[in-house]
Amino acid sequence: MTGATPRPPRRSALLRATTVVAAAVPLCTAGWFGWQALDRSGPAGATAAASAPPTAPSSPGATGTADPGATPLTPPVAPPPTSDTPAPEPSTAPSTQAPTAAPTPTAAAAANSLAGRTVVLDPGHNPGNVAHTAEINRQVDIGNARKECDTTGTETNAGYTEADYTLDVSRRARAVLAARGAKVVLVQDGDRPWGPCIDERARAGADAHADAAVSVHGDGGPASGSGFHVIMPARVVAGKADNSAIVEPSHRLGLLLRDRFHAATGEPYADYIADQGLDTRSDLGGLNLSTVPKVFIECGNMRNPTDAKRMTDPQWRQQAAQGIADALTAFLTAQ
Ligand code: ZN
Repeated sequence: MTGATPRPPRRSALLRATTVVAAAVPLCTAGWFGWQALDRSGPAGATAAASAPPTAPSSPGATGTADPGATPLTPPVAPPPTSDTPAPEPSTAPSTQAPTAAPTPTAAAAANSLAGRTVVLDPGHNPGNVAHTAEINRQVDIGNARKECDTTGTETNAGYTEADYTLDVSRRARAVLAARGAKVVLVQDGDRPWGPCIDERARAGADAHADAAVSVHGDGGPASGSGFHVIMPARVVAGKADNSAIVEPSHRLGLLLRDRFHAATGEPYADYIADQGLDTRSDLGGLNLSTVPKVFIECGNMRNPTDAKRMTDPQWRQQAAQGIADALTAFLTAQ
């Protein structure tokens, strides 16, 4: 949700290793870009975040234009790009899996299995953000820091934007969930010129009295990296943020989303960020300020040719939507 606004080529120590990719392209700070810019401490940092402001966005206001990534850190992709990755590789070729749909969720997907339930889908960014930089660069309070209202997000090399992707997948997921009886609220539906800001996106769950929320994104990582990952909330109790109550259910939702999305799409776990497709963060307003169970999904790396090809394919996007809907269905029907 917090993709970076387009920025001029920049030569920092950080970007030296990935100049080709990073310098010319807008990146999505919710994923790899934000990850490298912020603390990678995961759960450990999560605990710390409970009382102390995150160390990472130490330059919250400094980089008004977006990327906290201005701070050089070591590139997350280790020098040997295809070294020994933990495990995601095998899953790269689940050609055995029918891409159509995962069989498992079917049981839970009866016509009215979600009757009476409300789901919020948060399509990251907004196709109109690019024309409203002043509005989206405004700083908003996310409890433990201040951050840009919203960002433009990333895009594929061919120019398919993350904002278009997230909106399309969210609409497809809405259709699947609605067919199961759920009330589905989209935070934005291509019906507003820009935004909303991340704090408003976070509030949407409570405003809709939702049972769960998912924020949909595509990442802008290094071209050599591929795969998807799910971002779950660290506990943040700071300023106006107190997400204590949603940490545990959000982690349950995150695990389900990781598994169901993988089953529906065959997309491997990210090999350039996160661990087994899962990350935990305390720097995202959409998670810090949410009061209903919520997770983000970075469906793939739009800067990677293989992922870009998939994400540009409407059939694959339908599978992505199916995976998201199946995860929400499993989460809600298990409660
Ligand atoms: Zn994004």
